Amino acid sequence: SDKFAGKVILITGAANGIGKGAAMTFAAAGAIVVATDLQADTSEALVNGINQAGGTGHFIAHDVSSEDAWISVIDEIKSRFGRLDIVINNAGIGFTGLVTDMELSVWQKMMAVNVDGVFLGVKHSLPLMRDTGGGSIINVSSVAGIKATANFSGYCATKAAVKSFTKSAALESAAAQDGVRINSIHPGIIDTAIWDTLIGTTEDGSNEVPRAATLGGMTAEGVPFGRPGTIQEIVNGMVWLASDESSYMTGAELVLDGGFTAG
Ligand code: NAD
Repeated sequence: SDKFAGKVILITGAANGIGKGAAMTFAAAGAIVVATDLQADTSEALVNGINQAGGTGHFIAHDVSSEDAWISVIDEIKSRFGRLDIVINNAGIGFTGLVTDMELSVWQKMMAVNVDGVFLGVKHSLPLMRDTGGGSIINVSSVAGIKATANFSGYCATKAAVKSFTKSAALESAAAQDGVRINSIHPGIIDTAIWDTLIGTTEDGSNEVPRAATLGGMTAEGVPFGRPGTIQEIVNGMVWLASDESSYMTGAELVLDGGFTAG
């Protein structure tokens, strides 16, 4: 398909999971994919695969919580590709823990990646997108940003912040008529490796409990569909948000959760 031919898309946290799925789908649809992540090896393998399949993929090492890193990522996109059309602020981390047990450093780590990372992504992408004809920014929140759960306060708070920040930024773009739409996407429980690492009260993964352990009911059993979602089911929503088919949507939430937040 050539649905996104000539479009330059930046995807953060693209080495694994939902970001990797998005990178492969947008590349197959003709987009020039700039995949960024902390993990170089996995990302190099991803972009090599894209390029071998006849697509265009480019990796940039990137910590989304660093403003200096954002400035150099956007500089590199500008000098190499000259434009930016779609941004998916996808990188994210999560750690569980009771409020009374949670280390401030763990809370701050989640805030830095999930909230600072999205703020910086919008802040530094917008000028280039505006100057090259507008486009679509997709901020990856979660059902956790809509429905809070016990034992997961920090993650839920970061994802609610992403939801709210998205609306303020979208209102500014709408007022400026800069041609950039900004929305949040809210996956439910999706079968990725994030479930291997977020189950623990500390960053090093100690206090681990088995995958899909109960997070205040946040298990596949608590989903009306009775199953986790697939990566592709989330990527399909990203494709729609990135395309002109969603041209009247901004500052809004696309919830893809098998009914999790419906009742
Ligand atoms: P994942 O762990 O498979 O992938 C996340 C990627 O982000 C990894 O490649 C990791 O290296 C990268 N990353 C982490 N910190 C980073 C940083 N500081 N800078 C750059 N990259 C960084 O997880 P996933 O499930 O694919 O999650 C993707 C997004 O979807 C996250 O924002 C997550 O919170 C959100 N989400 C996931 C689910 C789910 O059930 N899997 C549900 C709702 C929302």
